[in-house]
Amino acid sequence: MLKIKEINVRAVKVPMSEPHQTASAIISESPLVLTDVVLENGICGNSILFTYTPAVLKPCADLVSNIAPLLIGEQLAPLAISDMLSAKFRLLGTQGLVGMALAAIDMALWDALAKANDLPLVNQLGGKIKPMPAYGAIGFDGVNGSARTAERLVAQGFTGVKAKIGYSTLQQDIDVVESIQRVIGEDITLMVDYNQSLNPVEAMLRVEELHGYGLGWIEEPVLAHDFDSLARITSASAIPIQAGENWWGILDMQHAIDSEASDYMMPDVMKMGGVSGWMKAAAMAQAKSIPISNHLWPEVSIHLLCCAGTAHWLEYSDWWNPVLIEPLELIDGMAQPSDKPGSGIQWDESAIEKFQI
Ligand SMILES: [Mg+2]
Repeated sequence: MLKIKEINVRAVKVPMSEPHQTASAIISESPLVLTDVVLENGICGNSILFTYTPAVLKPCADLVSNIAPLLIGEQLAPLAISDMLSAKFRLLGTQGLVGMALAAIDMALWDALAKANDLPLVNQLGGKIKPMPAYGAIGFDGVNGSARTAERLVAQGFTGVKAKIGYSTLQQDIDVVESIQRVIGEDITLMVDYNQSLNPVEAMLRVEELHGYGLGWIEEPVLAHDFDSLARITSASAIPIQAGENWWGILDMQHAIDSEASDYMMPDVMKMGGVSGWMKAAAMAQAKSIPISNHLWPEVSIHLLCCAGTAHWLEYSDWWNPVLIEPLELIDGMAQPSDKPGSGIQWDESAIEKFQI
């Protein structure tokens, strides 16, 4: 029986090659918490937390460290530990920073379990390695900038691209969509993402006006937890509505499914409660035949998508590549898990030394 010996936590700030703009914020560096769960036999499971803002980087790292003593000497059993920790935090709740810290531990435990069994995570979970279509991201970069990025992504082999929109006018959104479609042609899928920036009235108007553009999906037109408005927009829209990256845990997932908030769902492995939470969310989506994608965490998420009954697209991102020895590789726009043991998170220690704070 494998037991947990220690948990080590580091905080890094990784600069982005290009600042990432959305309708709601600009991100120019990735504040990351790196967690190592070390087993008594020396095997080490790793995970990454992305804290969005540096303001919560240290508090988040401290939280993981403070939770660690609850796990020392415990059996390596990610599902059981996930339930045990959820129960411990029931009075406080498991959203926000607590949820992030619990996800860091869960992802590292699954990585350790897969490594201990000498299996890629996908096989540890009972799934099969297979290629999945991946899309690349276009920031909030205006007509020319968005078209330039789209061209580069298509040249890299992506069969889908997703652009941030939510400019001050609908016409500007349309200009950006048209400029991208001119350079990508008809065979490449274009999705758009409002990053929760519209009010429900404006969202209804814009979504309706976009219906003739053959978009793959329209993402988060309104607040992620405004399930009523999302559901109204979803039922009125000819284009599928996508949401999910900001839902916390499987109860949010259940509420979203119950209210028919979106046609497609893309839970985030951190906010959904790590590998344990994401796999449960995938089962819930499968019960309703809802196509499911990931949000960020491409290395871990490709393993999970290969296990999901209604897997849709892999969202690719290279933001955290600098801390990884072997970032996820794409071949002709398709991603697949590597056949090495674990979830694809192996540290580049010399890079981490440079970025550690
Ligand atoms: Mg999004």
